[in-house]
Amino acid sequence: MAENNELKRTLDYALHGTPELKREEKRIWLGEFRERVILGLPLEQSLYREALKYVEDALADNMAEMLIVNNRIPMEIMANYMQLAKKMNKEYKSMAMDNNDAMGVVVASRSAVDRHEVVPQVKMLPENYRNLHHNCLCANHLQEVNELAPEYADEFKKITFGDKMMGIKCSICQKEEDGGPLM
Ligand SMILES: [Zn+2]
Repeated sequence: MAENNELKRTLDYALHGTPELKREEKRIWLGEFRERVILGLPLEQSLYREALKYVEDALADNMAEMLIVNNRIPMEIMANYMQLAKKMNKEYKSMAMDNNDAMGVVVASRSAVDRHEVVPQVKMLPENYRNLHHNCLCANHLQEVNELAPEYADEFKKITFGDKMMGIKCSICQKEEDGGPLM
């Protein structure tokens, strides 16, 4: 009998990893097993506005059931994730983690999904396209952002004739002009 238990334990370890490893694994994936993870973003990347797009895409996955956020993320950024979970109608929770290798954000299922790549490299907007006052661009800059970061192209729009009449200028050119001599 004791032998049977031993065998079962050996098999369990072989199939699912040792309990020790599992515990380590859960510390990285904000309390979840790696096999249930759809998306994980390291803490630093979770702080970028660009990360929201990745998280939203992951939450749209049929298997996605919850969004888990590391407690170390500042409140104002956490609020964005909270809103996103609500919008996507998924469970939201935050986890207090004391280990530095813990993810910042995890999107997970309640069952194994066994995804291979779950930590994408978050592609950032080019520096001068970040933190703009508005998202209207001239044709040249719209084309530029389309080439540099096509995945964000839909966040910008071309200035219309109406915009021009209202005195709205391209977010980028305007900025450049501001730095130059007054006309
Ligand atoms: Zn421009």
